[in-house]
Amino acid sequence: MEQTPLQPSEADNKGTLIIPSLTDRGTECVDVAVIGGGPAGCATALALARSGLSVAIVERAFSPDTQAGETLPPGIRLTLEELGLWAEFEAEGHTPSVGNRSVWGSSRPLDYDFIFSPYGSGWHVDWQRFDGMLTGAAERAGARLLTGMEFVDSEFSSSGFWRLELLGPRGRAELRARFVVDASGRSAAFACRQPSIERYSIDRLIGVAGYLDANPRASSEERITLVEAAEDGWWYSAPLPCEKLAVIFMTDADLASARKASVAEGWLARIRRTEYTRKRIEAGGYRLASLLRIVSADSSRLSDFAGNRWLAVGDAAASYDPLSAQGISTGLSTGLGAARAIQKYLGGDPSALREYARHISEAFTSYLSDREAYYGLEGRWPTSQFWMRRHARALHALAS
Ligand SMILES: Cc1cc2nc3c(=O)[nH]c(=O)nc-3n(C[C@H](O)[C@H](O)[C@H](O)COP(=O)(O)OP(=O)(O)OC[C@H]3O[C@@H](n4cnc5c(N)ncnc54)[C@H](O)[C@@H]3O)c2cc1C
Repeated sequence: MEQTPLQPSEADNKGTLIIPSLTDRGTECVDVAVIGGGPAGCATALALARSGLSVAIVERAFSPDTQAGETLPPGIRLTLEELGLWAEFEAEGHTPSVGNRSVWGSSRPLDYDFIFSPYGSGWHVDWQRFDGMLTGAAERAGARLLTGMEFVDSEFSSSGFWRLELLGPRGRAELRARFVVDASGRSAAFACRQPSIERYSIDRLIGVAGYLDANPRASSEERITLVEAAEDGWWYSAPLPCEKLAVIFMTDADLASARKASVAEGWLARIRRTEYTRKRIEAGGYRLASLLRIVSADSSRLSDFAGNRWLAVGDAAASYDPLSAQGISTGLSTGLGAARAIQKYLGGDPSALREYARHISEAFTSYLSDREAYYGLEGRWPTSQFWMRRHARALHALAS
């Protein structure tokens, strides 16, 4: 993402800067402000801008943050085609992924080969290029990208529009919008400020992520995603296009394993206890190249996904366990669904937002049953807190 130069020269009597060209004609405001320029925000903004609405994306970062995992399933092709971005994606030279290997429920690995997928391979993406493609497409469609601007507060004006307070390197700024999309990821920064909206988490899953450099003389890397269950969590590893291997230990934030694995020594000691993750790292001659990074990975949802002239998309609406490897494609497809709902709503259909919210709620309920069934397949550590927590949920779901 490139920084959009703002020249907030005007200040109102509170010292707030009004973003010029969006609000400098008194009552002028954008049709839709999208808070967050990740996959979900960009997809929503792209579809809305193409439909002729004026859109601004507010993104607090100046450049894309490296994601914890960057694997896309084969079915991403359908969503990228719907966004009109498939040809551009294919031309960007991301690394095809041939399949998934899971060591789950027994010590025998099971392979799922994408050769059986009607959509071809999966993908290990270069995040900078992928993010650049999405933001570039949204900008070309007419959306205005405001980088380095953090949404901090909101107020619904009696004149029927939202006043958003933003904080940037040059101070505070105000953006007015007829409609707001919360695409700010798990923090759901806008929705969680709305009265009666809460966020529910069903677990405390975190990822302790390390990025490993390959030894150029080592044997070539298998282009697969490997998931391996362990006593107090599970391991994820996948190659990145830049000759690195992303290795992530998933566990619960409140367990002793999280504390121990958050320092390099403890993290590496835990890898040595695995079989397939360890062998993969040894075969590639990989070395830990950077500090470990701790990321939140809980399954959570908002108590409602839409309200007075706003809705939430992607992780802001509902976030999924990375085991599903569906976060980015869900973000893109909920963005498309959100754009359709907003167009209908602004076109005079008051039921469009409720219909959208119902769809997100049903998808999350269905995801929870899949999650419980999948965790229920692992029974090798019956006294481990991590697995007991998940099995209790699985048994509950089976009983209800
Ligand atoms: C450990 C781990 C591994 C994962 N691996 C995969 C994988 O392999 N494949 C996959 O598909 N998914 C994976 N995911 C999930 C995936 O990363 C997310 O589902 C996806 O990024 C969600 O997209 P989003 O646009 O909703 O939110 P995000 O990508 O989180 O984007 C939100 C944006 O909002 C901005 N923002 C936040 N607050 C504010 C604010 N107040 N003001 C302005 N801007 C703000 C942020 O800077 C960010 O750019 C993984 C997740 C984790 C935790």
